[in-house]
Amino acid sequence: MQRLIIVFIVLFSVGAPAAQAQLPDGADAEVRLSPEESGNWRVEYTFAEPQSVLALVRSTGDYRELTWSVTSDNARFGRVAGIDVIALDEPARTVSFSIIPLTSTLVGEYTPFVTFADGSVAVHDGQFSVAPLDSLEAVEALEGDTSNIGAPALSMDVVLSSDTPIIVDGEVHQGKVRHRVDGDGTYIYLGNSEIEEFDSFTAVIDKRLPAWLRDRFDSDLEAIFSAYEQLWGFELEHKATVMLAYKGATADGFSVTGGALDQLLMMEMGGTALNAPDDDVLSYVHWFFAHEAAHLFQIDRGVGFASGAQSWIHEGAANTMAYSLIASMMEQDGAKRFLAGVYGRAFDECVTTLEAGPLATAAEREAFSAHYSCGDFIALATDGFLKQRNLYGFWNRLVSMAKGEPDEKVDEDTYFSTMQILGATKAQRNAVRALVEGRPDNARKTLTNLLEKAGLEPEFSAGGQLIALKWPDY
Ligand SMILES: [Zn+2]
Repeated sequence: MQRLIIVFIVLFSVGAPAAQAQLPDGADAEVRLSPEESGNWRVEYTFAEPQSVLALVRSTGDYRELTWSVTSDNARFGRVAGIDVIALDEPARTVSFSIIPLTSTLVGEYTPFVTFADGSVAVHDGQFSVAPLDSLEAVEALEGDTSNIGAPALSMDVVLSSDTPIIVDGEVHQGKVRHRVDGDGTYIYLGNSEIEEFDSFTAVIDKRLPAWLRDRFDSDLEAIFSAYEQLWGFELEHKATVMLAYKGATADGFSVTGGALDQLLMMEMGGTALNAPDDDVLSYVHWFFAHEAAHLFQIDRGVGFASGAQSWIHEGAANTMAYSLIASMMEQDGAKRFLAGVYGRAFDECVTTLEAGPLATAAEREAFSAHYSCGDFIALATDGFLKQRNLYGFWNRLVSMAKGEPDEKVDEDTYFSTMQILGATKAQRNAVRALVEGRPDNARKTLTNLLEKAGLEPEFSAGGQLIALKWPDY
């Protein structure tokens, strides 16, 4: 009986070619992107099979409500229970939009379109990723979290044409590119900068980046990468690509933001403080690179991160690694001042956040930065609890533990198991848990206790400012 049904279905689908179409390389979907004269971008989806309801896999924030408009007359677009949803009136194979390219940075999400001062633009292809759902009720049942979708995202190609060279995955294309979206996606660069090859990385750098930064960029970054290769004990399997977008000198001070995607670091920096050489600005820029580069080493063996509430795991470690690395490149007094400054601020911020509620719900309270500040101290304490103080060794073990899990994710369970395996006692693990899950009556005391228990010997000024720790010396 079963065989008969299968034969029937095969015959039926052969007899109804309009319902299906072949896309290149067996893709489930493709999305064609092209700039419009108005400055908007045209976004046209084509699906191999008719679709009814699609969720945008990356639905953090509500920016699409203000920037995406449906231009085909067969669909509605909107936000349902915290998720951006395309609802087709009848099952259909195409839907198109006109979108305003969002170029401002988002909290907890990659900048959708990164503009460069030299006129280039880089498009985050992962923003277009969609997953099919049965109904709008099924969207509501996700409770605002697309990781609850049972089905994987549609395998999808982004198709882009440009008059300028196109760079993606470290390769240059002319005219047109078809690129398969993978995981969180990557940036597709459209512009006239060339790929510059260095020993440990390749770079695509804004032609307008101020000369003093540009001149030392490769040697500084080379130093950061080679120091990490020593500390982590391996070289990145694939050379990292760094894209650096300069945002100009219109804003006061300076800003630097960025994100790590697979083997790509996207950095955006700008502000008047970058106009002339400045040691403090330079240390901050170095630290920022080192933080993002640490993520590349964390994910190089193919593991993912647990999202949201567990971000302290990877953010805290990347922060602490970056602080130590940058301090090790400074002369002794400067290093002490730098570490006292950054950890002093982190201490105050962590305490303030914990006074309002546990770290586990900080992201919900829009206090996402606590994952960095409290995460710093959790990483330091973890390091202190280990018999052999070595945060890099801990992370190498953590990653191999995660590789053994079905979801290959670095999460709290793997974190605490790894602590246990490497010799941290139950009391020590509970001290970390208290900081993550508890809402301490006295946050300052809880954090101070954690540092003392971990042998970090915190010292405070008369005013209660954290001024010194027994910093790890890698
Ligand atoms: Zn980070």
